[in-house]
Order: sequence, then C-alpha cells, then structure tokens
Amino acid sequence: MTTEHVNCLIIGSGPAGYTAAIYASRAGMKPVLYQGMQPGGQLTITNEVDNFPGYPEGVHGQQLMVDLEQQARRFGTDIRYGVVTAVDFSGSIHKATVDEQQEISANVVIISTGASAKWLGLPSEMRLNGLGVSACAVCDGFFFRGKDVAIVGAGDTAAEEASYLANLCRKVYMIVRRGEMRASKFMQNRVKSLPNIEILWNSETEEVLGEDEVTGALIKNTVTGEKRVIDVSGFFVAIGHEPNTAIFKPYVEMDETGYIITEKGSSRTNVPGVFACGDAQDNIYRQAITAAGTGCMAALDAERYLAMKEVEMHAEA
Ligand code: NDP
Repeated sequence: MTTEHVNCLIIGSGPAGYTAAIYASRAGMKPVLYQGMQPGGQLTITNEVDNFPGYPEGVHGQQLMVDLEQQARRFGTDIRYGVVTAVDFSGSIHKATVDEQQEISANVVIISTGASAKWLGLPSEMRLNGLGVSACAVCDGFFFRGKDVAIVGAGDTAAEEASYLANLCRKVYMIVRRGEMRASKFMQNRVKSLPNIEILWNSETEEVLGEDEVTGALIKNTVTGEKRVIDVSGFFVAIGHEPNTAIFKPYVEMDETGYIITEKGSSRTNVPGVFACGDAQDNIYRQAITAAGTGCMAALDAERYLAMKEVEMHAEA
C-alpha cells in the first residue's frame, strides 16, 4: 500500500465538498478531494434545480455540479476519482484508505459524503432498478408521462413526489404502510385533494413485477391480508435517506440514524481536526444551498484549526 501525506483531505463531491474545496484552496490549504462513488453527489440525478441562488433561469443538477467542480479546480483543488473505504482517526494525524489500496494521511479531514436514498430491499426492486424502479420522481417521472405509477412512502418527500407525479402521470398509487401519514398536514391535504392519486393505506409491497421493465406491483394489505396486483409502469421509492457515514462510525459521534453530530453553530465533530458538512450531518434541511453553506463553514473551521496548531507548535519550539 502506498502512502501520501496531504494537508487537507475532503471526502465527497456534492455541493458541500466542492464548496469546502473552493474555500480551502483559496485559503492556501492545498486540499485533495476524493469524489467517491457518485461524483457530484445526489444532484447529478436530479433535473432542473430552480432554488439554487444565482441561477435566475434554473440550472440542470449535473451542470450545477460541473460548475462547482470547475470552480474548485480553478483555485487549485486536487480532485481525484476514488472512494475512501476506511479511516483511522485514532492519532493526531488522520488516515484514510482509498480504494483499499492507497493510504492518505492528513492534517485535517472534511467529511462531505452526503446521503443516499433508502430502498425496500426486495430482490425484484433491485433487479428492475433503472428499468422502471427509481428513487427520484423528479429525475425519472418524465419517462412515465400519461402512464400509471406507484410511489412508496408517507413522509414529506413521498407526498411531494406523489404530487409531482400526479401532474405528469395518469394515475398515482401511493403505498402507505400504516393507517396514517408522517407528512405535514399541508402535504397530506395536497395529496388527498388530487383526484388521480389513490392512497393504499396499511399496504406493503411484496414484489415489483416485470421481466425487463416494471409492469406492476404485488401489494398486501397488512390489516386484511388481502393481496392485489396494481398495473404500473413506474415504481418510485421515497422512504427516506441514509447518511453515507458508516466508515466513520468507530471514531465520529453520530445520532442513532447515522447522521454525524457537529458542535452547534460549527462543523466540528468530536474528533479534533475532523469536520463534517452537508447531508452527512444534516437530516433537517438537506438542500444544495445549505450543504454548500456548511461546506464553507467546514473549510473555515479547518483553516482556524490549522492556524491554532501552528501557533501551538511555535509556542512549543
Ligand atoms: P421520512 O423519514 O420523513 O419519511 C419516510 C417515510 O417512508 C415514512 O412515512 C415511513 O413510514 C416510510 N417508510 C420507511 N421505510 C419504509 C418501508 N420499508 N416501507 C414502506 N414505507 C417506509 O423521510 P422523507 O424523505 O419524507 O423526509 C425526510 C425529512 O425531510 C423530513 O424531516 C421531512 O419533513 C423533510 N422534507 C421536507 C420537505 C419540505 O418541507 N418541503 C420535502 C421533503 C422532505 P412510517 O411513517 O410508517 O415510518
């Protein structure tokens, strides 16, 4: 295994990671950024982004990420393909393993690994992923214009996506596992008011049907035990997100769902020299702009940490 020492290591390439990179590069911290499994992060699988300030006409998610990457490169960020597969934060110099073959040591680490969509875990759901199964209505709803689709979930995301799909599709089945929804009253009312949304209460998906593409879903009513097949060409899953933080668990404090805990009003984690930003530490706002904002905070916090370390070293010398 080869070893390389860097000053500032940024893990992840969503809006948080690239914003941290822009600030860290401009501060002369010479950041090295590993892009991870999905370069550009979740925004690369969305369509139009209309709420990122500075784009009066909106911007495609992928374009926004290309723009952020180029901005980070412009100030000298060393952007690399590669997935950080393990870390060791037990010493004062932090270590990370990239693609199980290279060891990087770093004075400071900025975690910006984001979050990923949760899945039901059905084999048929995995097999038909991309063939009618999707976790992003905004990205893929367009392909099902005028058709019947289903969406699983009962939170704000599911309600929002169901309304979005109802605008495009002929009929939307909303599959809710309990007899009530978790979504806000406003979103529930919106869903219930749309005539082409049918809510299937107390319902679980047993199987997504279809060979090469989705043709339907087998739904079981958990109260009556009754099973029925709904004919749909699109099957959307909107049951929440999971932060991509498993590799940090032995060292970094997290809540019970795996979101990294940062000190209030900062990006500092419990490990000195390790900072977290973006969706990896935020299960409330989860917006591109808030991720970018916390990325900025992480770079500023890391810069201050390095400056303090330097002062301490001079004082000791
Ligand atoms: P949530 O965790 O709020 O909701 C997840 C939903 O999926 C729940 O209804 C849950 O059911 C259901 N679910 C979970 N696992 C399964 C399963 N295996 N099978 C079937 N259903 C399942 O996630 P969201 O992504 O909806 O929202 C996350 C956060 O983001 C929330 O705080 C939300 O308010 C916020 N948000 C806000 C928006 C806005 O304000 N515009 C828009 C979107 C999100 P159950 O209820 O039974 O547990």
